[in-house]
Amino acid sequence: MRYSGFRVITEGLFGNKGWTPAWRDPAPKASYDAIIIGGGGHGLSTAYYLAKNHGLRNIAVLEKGYLGSGNIGRNTTIVRANYFLPGNSEFYSHSMKLWEGLESELNYNVMHSQRGLINLFHSDGQRDAFARRGNMMVNQGDDAILLDREGVRERLPYLDFENTRFPIYGGLLHPRGGTARHDAVAWGYARGADQLGVDLIQNCEVTGIDIENGKVVGVQTTRGAIKAKKVGVVVAGRSGQVAAMAGMRLPIESHILQAFVTEGLKPVIDHVISFGMGHFYISQSDKGGLVFGGDLDFYASYASRGNLPMVEHVMEAGMTLMPMIGRAKVLRSWGGIMDMTPDGSPIIDKTPVEGLYLDCGWNYGGFKAVPASGWCMAHLMATDTPHEVARRFRLDRFRVGQILDEEGTGSQHNLH
Ligand SMILES: Cc1cc2nc3c(=O)[nH]c(=O)nc-3n(C[C@H](O)[C@H](O)[C@H](O)COP(=O)(O)OP(=O)(O)OC[C@H]3O[C@@H](n4cnc5c(N)ncnc54)[C@H](O)[C@@H]3O)c2cc1C
Repeated sequence: MRYSGFRVITEGLFGNKGWTPAWRDPAPKASYDAIIIGGGGHGLSTAYYLAKNHGLRNIAVLEKGYLGSGNIGRNTTIVRANYFLPGNSEFYSHSMKLWEGLESELNYNVMHSQRGLINLFHSDGQRDAFARRGNMMVNQGDDAILLDREGVRERLPYLDFENTRFPIYGGLLHPRGGTARHDAVAWGYARGADQLGVDLIQNCEVTGIDIENGKVVGVQTTRGAIKAKKVGVVVAGRSGQVAAMAGMRLPIESHILQAFVTEGLKPVIDHVISFGMGHFYISQSDKGGLVFGGDLDFYASYASRGNLPMVEHVMEAGMTLMPMIGRAKVLRSWGGIMDMTPDGSPIIDKTPVEGLYLDCGWNYGGFKAVPASGWCMAHLMATDTPHEVARRFRLDRFRVGQILDEEGTGSQHNLH
C-alpha cells in the first residue's frame, strides 16, 4: 500500500477500514542468504539496502524485542553532517544526502526537519577550532556559517550571553542540520524492507553464532537454529555481547546515555543548539517538549536507565545556558546503551570469521548515520569490499594505529 495525502483523505471518509499492517509477521525460515542481527535503525536500513541496491531477497532481520525498541527509539533525533576528519566527513555527508531524499525513497513521513544546528563557542580557541571545522564542512560540500555573538543573539535571544560563567562568543551554524522522528525512521525502513521481501522477525533473540572451519553457517536463536551464508551483527550497545558469541573481544565499551523531555510548550526553540562548554544539547519536538541531553553516565553498563549525578549535571548545564529552562517541568527521562569506541568513530567491517560482518561503535551519533550505515554495510555484505565512504571504519585500526579521533579526546569516553 502506498501512503499519500489522497489516501489519508479517502480512508478518513470511509471509516479508516482500508489500512493494512505496515509489515508482515513471518515465522523464521530454516535458512537465509543473509541474516541481520538487530532490528534497530542500522539493522533495518542494512536489510533495506541489501534488498534494494543489491537485489538480495532471502534476508531476515532478527530482533530480540520489538522493532525500534533499542536506541533508535531512544535518541534525541539530531541529524547533522558537521564532521572534521577525512574518513568521517564524507560518510556523514553521504548520510545527509540520503536523509534529504529519505521520505520519498521510503514513501514514509519521518518528519525530517532541517531547522539548523548551532554549535556555540565560548573562547577564542574554540572559535578557531569551529572555524576550521566549518571550513572542512564546506570543503566536503556541506554547509557551515560562522556566527559572531550578535549573529547568535539574533537567532537565539533567550540564551544567557553575559551574566554567565561561560559567555557566548559565537556559534557555528549548520543550516542543513536538524532533527527527524526517530521511531518513524525504524518503521519506514521496516516497511520498505518488508515490501522488498525481507522477513522481519521480532521476539527472536540470537543466543549463539554457528561457525564451521572459520566460516559462519548460521545462528542459534530463542526460536530455533537458522542457517545463513552471511550474518551481520548490528546490535549497537549489545555488540560486545553478540561478538563474544563468535569468540571476539571488541574495542567497545557500553555506557548509558540519558535524555530528557519537558512538558509541551509553545514554540520557543527553532534550532538544535549545542552548548560548547558542557555536553548539553537541546531542541524542541513538534509536540512542544524540550528534548535535551548531555554526557554519558561515567560507568560501563547494560542497563537502559541512568543515574542521578548525570541528571544533575545536565540540568546544571541547561540552566547555565538558558536560565528560562528552569521554569519548565521535566516530564520524562530515559537511557540507552551506547557502543563507545576508543576514538569515538564507528566500525563497519568484515571480521576474522568468513561471512560474519560488524556494524557498531556508533557512540553518541548513530541516529544521523542510519541511512549511510545501512547503505555501506549492505555494500560490504553484498560485495565483500568496504564502501568508499566507509573505508576508514576498520576493526583493526586500533591495532595498526590508524585511529579516527574526531574529538581529540582519545580513550576518554566521557569526553567524546
Ligand atoms: C539518549 C540518547 C540520545 C541520542 N541522541 C542522538 C542524536 O541526537 N543523534 C544521533 O545521531 N544519535 C543519537 N544517539 C545515538 C543513536 O541512537 C544510536 O547510535 C543508534 O540508534 C544505534 O544504532 P541502532 O539504531 O541500530 O541501535 P538499536 O536501536 O539499539 O538497535 C540494536 C538492536 O539490536 C537488538 N539486539 C541486541 N542483542 C540482540 C540479540 N542477541 N539478538 C537479536 N537482537 C538483538 C536490540 O534489541 C536492538 O533493537 C542517541 C542515543 C541515546 C541513547
